[in-house]
Amino acid sequence: MEILIAETAGFCFGVKRAVDMAFKAANSHSGKAATLGPIIHNPQVIQKLAHRGLIPIEKIEDTHKFDLLLIRTHGIPQDIYKKIQERGINVIDATCPFVKKAQEYAKLLKEEGYRVIILGDRDHPEVKGIVSYAGADTLVVKNAEEIKKPGRKVGIVVQTTQPLERLKEVVSRVVETAKEVKVYNTICNSTAMRLRETEELAGEVEVMFVIGGKNSANTKQLARLCQRIGVRTYHIETADEINTEWIKGIKKAGITAGASTPDWIIQEIRDRLEYLSSKD
Ligand code: SF4
Repeated sequence: MEILIAETAGFCFGVKRAVDMAFKAANSHSGKAATLGPIIHNPQVIQKLAHRGLIPIEKIEDTHKFDLLLIRTHGIPQDIYKKIQERGINVIDATCPFVKKAQEYAKLLKEEGYRVIILGDRDHPEVKGIVSYAGADTLVVKNAEEIKKPGRKVGIVVQTTQPLERLKEVVSRVVETAKEVKVYNTICNSTAMRLRETEELAGEVEVMFVIGGKNSANTKQLARLCQRIGVRTYHIETADEINTEWIKGIKKAGITAGASTPDWIIQEIRDRLEYLSSKD
């Protein structure tokens, strides 16, 4: 069986950087260390880090038990950052530089007197962080339809994972009434590239293996895309889940993986598929 692996499968730049920082911290720190929220949506990586003493915690109230805190790629709101520093906890900031840019642009727009509109999901941690830099009158919208009265002087920033089409619609809506509009396109193209390549690959093979945490939004999005194309799709986290029956008679299989999937898991799955197909 021929096995094709998407070039964009696995860690994006920001996640790779954050995971490297987390392992470095876990290996060198002798005190009590934590991440505010899981560093990535991958239970195997979280487990490895926990074994090395880097524990994910959910609430800011729990930080007092730790002397080192790692901030994940999504970033955190300004007031929480301040609270952590006031408690004298050392911080390793693994906020993705692209997310940091969106925070900085939001702050800049506020300082220049723009009413900030953020295109994104208001419940997402990344957006909550950006909002904290953007001022009290900030509007967070999921789409153009949600914009009623944008104001006269409007600045726009975008959650990094939003599609470009939606940003274009938002800008078109705002320019209908606003007199001055400044747009920072803070979309990260890593997600779009991964989706494009997965779509192409799924069109070429008989079965697709989508690897990543079952709770990872971007992995689930990849699996849904493959299913929509009509190719038989398996969303798995580890090589143990593979059933021999899935590849019976298959000549060409494809592998893609979400942004939180480490290379070693992708390799394990490729090796397992090769082994099982050699016995078929
Ligand atoms: S998807 Fe883009 S913005 Fe998000 S962590 Fe990865 S590189 Fe950073």
